[in-house]
Amino acid sequence: MSRHASFAARSYRTHGIVLRTYKLGEADRIIVMLTPDRGQVRAVAKGVRRTTSKLGATLEPFMYVDAQIVQGRTLDIVTQAELKRPYGQNIATDYTLFTTANVMAETAERLTQADDESSAVQYRLFHGALATLARGGHNPTRVLDSYLLRALAAEGWAPNFEECAKCGKPGPHASVNVVGGGSVCVDCRPSGSLSPGPSTVSLLAALLSGNWEAIDLADPADQRAASGIVTAFVQWHLERGLTSMRHIERITE
Ligand SMILES: [Zn+2]
Repeated sequence: MSRHASFAARSYRTHGIVLRTYKLGEADRIIVMLTPDRGQVRAVAKGVRRTTSKLGATLEPFMYVDAQIVQGRTLDIVTQAELKRPYGQNIATDYTLFTTANVMAETAERLTQADDESSAVQYRLFHGALATLARGGHNPTRVLDSYLLRALAAEGWAPNFEECAKCGKPGPHASVNVVGGGSVCVDCRPSGSLSPGPSTVSLLAALLSGNWEAIDLADPADQRAASGIVTAFVQWHLERGLTSMRHIERITE
């Protein structure tokens, strides 16, 4: 839709999650939201950096909000926002949760666009993972690993951890080939494949399907190995990798 055509002010209401914000001028902020029906929404929240602004606290990163937005000629403007779930409150006070949520938000931003009606699946995956992260109860790195695999799978990049990705022989196999699309059997194993062992490959399958019973019981060594492989998949598919990922690689569990 051309912005030039929107001369008369038009407004819409949408719900979504704040992915990030950045400063604009003296007191304003640009809010980047992920919504189920409009993809990414970028809009200005005026005066929110003043301490008296109620809108400012509502439009923090990782808050789930209901917003009224007026379409402007250059930038849309948030005129009203109501908090639906304050996921950002727990997340902002915990360094691990915050850095983890940032990687998820950057991934969601990379996999969606503005005016993108097909972003509903990515929105649902991101919202689910963020709610799980904020609620606690599962290791944040496992929540992230599971989210990353599922977000890639939704884009058609689902790795196969159940069978050999090349010949279909039932697994779990001991080796994984990132470029080849998942686990590989001893006969198909291309050189340069990783060999984390069948228990790590089983964990990867559990992360991809969201089998939390298996994920929570996994051996810490398998969890670390699985995280490394998930990172390799993300880097392969998103080429440049994620800048926010650098911050979490330093976190020791
Ligand atoms: Zn094979």
